[in-house]
Amino acid sequence: MSAWSNVPMGPPDPILGVSEAFRACKNPNKVNLGVGAYRDDNNKPYVLPCVKKAEKILQNMELNKEYLPQGGMPEFCKQAAKFGFGDDAEIIKNGRLATVQSLSGSGALKLGLELIKYHYDGPKSVYVSNPTWGNHIQMTKYAYLDVKKYKYYDSKTLGLDFKGLMDDISKAPEKSVFIFHGCAHNPTGVDPSHVQWDEISALCKKKNIFPFFDLAYQGFASGDDENDAYSLRKFVKDGHLVMFAQSFAKNMGLYGERIGAIHILTESKEQCTKVLSQLKILVRSQYSSPPVSGARIVTKVLEDPVLKNDWRKEFKQMADRMKNARVALKTNLKKEGSTRNWDHITNQIGMFCFSGLDEKQVDKLVTEHHVYLTKNGRISIGGLNSKNVEYVAHCMHLVTK
Ligand code: PLP
Repeated sequence: MSAWSNVPMGPPDPILGVSEAFRACKNPNKVNLGVGAYRDDNNKPYVLPCVKKAEKILQNMELNKEYLPQGGMPEFCKQAAKFGFGDDAEIIKNGRLATVQSLSGSGALKLGLELIKYHYDGPKSVYVSNPTWGNHIQMTKYAYLDVKKYKYYDSKTLGLDFKGLMDDISKAPEKSVFIFHGCAHNPTGVDPSHVQWDEISALCKKKNIFPFFDLAYQGFASGDDENDAYSLRKFVKDGHLVMFAQSFAKNMGLYGERIGAIHILTESKEQCTKVLSQLKILVRSQYSSPPVSGARIVTKVLEDPVLKNDWRKEFKQMADRMKNARVALKTNLKKEGSTRNWDHITNQIGMFCFSGLDEKQVDKLVTEHHVYLTKNGRISIGGLNSKNVEYVAHCMHLVTK
């Protein structure tokens, strides 16, 4: 009998489990459409050229390895805020934005949820979209906050259930916290249009809803960082005090560097200072201070106009490759003779496509054809390339005809 004898086995992570099964598979045709990371057309992880250049410059500077302050690197926080909210955002200039460096987007969400748990003056529950990225639910639960779901995806139209979403906002108690995917909704790839975001913002204002934006794909979704930040910036324009979890994992390809930020818009400079002080306490009590390397890379790229321009071109290339992969998948399904309507593949945006395949069809894809994806039918577009797209379309047709 040890201290750990009664520990039950935790369930495997539904997303990471797909990659494990893929690695164990010996079939030469195997394809991994589970992984939430970009791959180039040769199915290789991609280090952005602007990042390589920034790393060279940093290496030559022979910087030290001292601790960062609890709130992270100040220049990084400033540049990250400008990228999210816009270079000329008034809220940055007037000192109302509390920004703290975080362990990528996940760490930003965690800090935000904990701030809600300890200091938010409103219901201690968090509304997440149905469906949502699984970690939203897990993190909310582990912050001892109640998870509630709002309608989002319509499985009949394979698109947005806008009416359901608006109804659920209307019915939520005043000051409820809503997590919104600012762009490139994970797992569905279905986003509200700009006009719909305008309506969502107006209703949230009327209902005094607290908007918590998870914007993990800015620039990476459409290839245009301003377009991808539309929802966040519209809410700010409309006077919401937003919270924003930011990540540089996807758009700068810095997955393992764990670099992001949590931004909290407050009413005044004085309030901002207080919120910042509490965020720093949360950091101190969990990991003391954030890592330095990713913050230096992002700061270098964002501060240098040439590197920043290169970066914009590079994330547009990634976004374009994913848009082209969607078109190729749809075209090949048609070539196979599929009579199903696959328009949703190209209507959706970002890293993921909610294919509409049911669990049985996914099971067949995995066991009979060695095409790996999550049970909910989510395809990671980053895993498609010119060499495997015909095979994937062929197998999708076989399991859906
Ligand atoms: N939010 C969403 C919706 C995501 O899809 C992801 C990554 O898959 C994240 C946040 C956070 O990612 P990271 O912690 O790697 O920045």
